[in-house]
Amino acid sequence: MVDLDEIRDLASIYPGSAHYVTLYLNVDPLTNPAGEYAIRINNMLKDARESLDKKTLKDVSADLELISDYFATEKREFKKSVCIISSKAANLWKEYHLAAPTKSELVVEKTPHLDPILDIMDNYGRYLVVLASKDRARIFVTQMGEVTEYGEVKSEDIPGRHAKGGWFALSQDRYDRHTDWHEGFHIKEVEKKVESFMDRQKAGKIVIGGPEESIAMVTEKMPPVLREKVIGRFRAEMFATPVEILAAASIIIKEYERAAKDRMIEDLIARVYKDNRGVLGIEDVILMTEEKRIQKLMVDSDYEQPGYICPNCRALSITPDPCRFCGAKTGRTSHLVDFIMEKAVEQGGSVEVVPGESKLREAGRIGALLRY
Ligand SMILES: [Zn+2]
Repeated sequence: MVDLDEIRDLASIYPGSAHYVTLYLNVDPLTNPAGEYAIRINNMLKDARESLDKKTLKDVSADLELISDYFATEKREFKKSVCIISSKAANLWKEYHLAAPTKSELVVEKTPHLDPILDIMDNYGRYLVVLASKDRARIFVTQMGEVTEYGEVKSEDIPGRHAKGGWFALSQDRYDRHTDWHEGFHIKEVEKKVESFMDRQKAGKIVIGGPEESIAMVTEKMPPVLREKVIGRFRAEMFATPVEILAAASIIIKEYERAAKDRMIEDLIARVYKDNRGVLGIEDVILMTEEKRIQKLMVDSDYEQPGYICPNCRALSITPDPCRFCGAKTGRTSHLVDFIMEKAVEQGGSVEVVPGESKLREAGRIGALLRY
């Protein structure tokens, strides 16, 4: 998963003499069958070589070569999109595999080009998962079905800590004030860490896990400002693997996101009837996509719709008529919806995939809020 601290380090690079090549490329196997992205990457590299001034081109030619080799040499397991940052001069190579589509572009600047990846981080919910027992806390961040363990707080790390107690101590009368102070200190440490992660990793909500007897206690001990961010709790052993944590937290996160998406769809439906700033149904969505008016696209996750795409200008349609823009004969595709999603992102819109039974399913399975 993309580590925001690492992105922040990249963002703090001060422009000097080195050039950075940043590439974003949609590599979704659905919309890029048989490695269509290979053609696109070659075109992007060619464009770069033709448009850069001589000196800059000389500076980055090794980077362009590295990127070309990267896509040419081996078959790779791709997610939806990939971001590569290369600067031979600064001795830097980073690759990020993203589970969301992004606008394909190649940018050469004196710093890495990070806006698109930061947008993705903003648009897809990041959640903090805190697995806590009385004397230990493990902290995870999860986003788009991925999870990373970021840190751990153990009470033996706290100076002068007594052998017993931990998280629970404050509520247990048998401990004296002196012990309370240390246990309080431990909780403060965990709080501090949680708060700093919420902030640094842009995680907006918290899921709490742990042994059954700990969960209620941990939640109760949290300061209200953190407690109101808790969206659910699950039981888990402290030694659970990240995959187990992800599975348990995902159930809670899915339910939370489903409720949020229901509200979003209600808003969309209201907009369609109130002020025409929304559309529902694939025909209207395609029209608005071609007019580049999509602000937020909402799609039923199971929605599949065959359609047609123009080989010249990539215009979409659900009927096999010649392209309405250039008159070319269109080709059939079974991934019309994926192309719409990709185009929405290309024009700076965001995409919300809505899983399961939802109001969107009855309302046309696809819809969009419009820019104007
Ligand atoms: Zn066309």
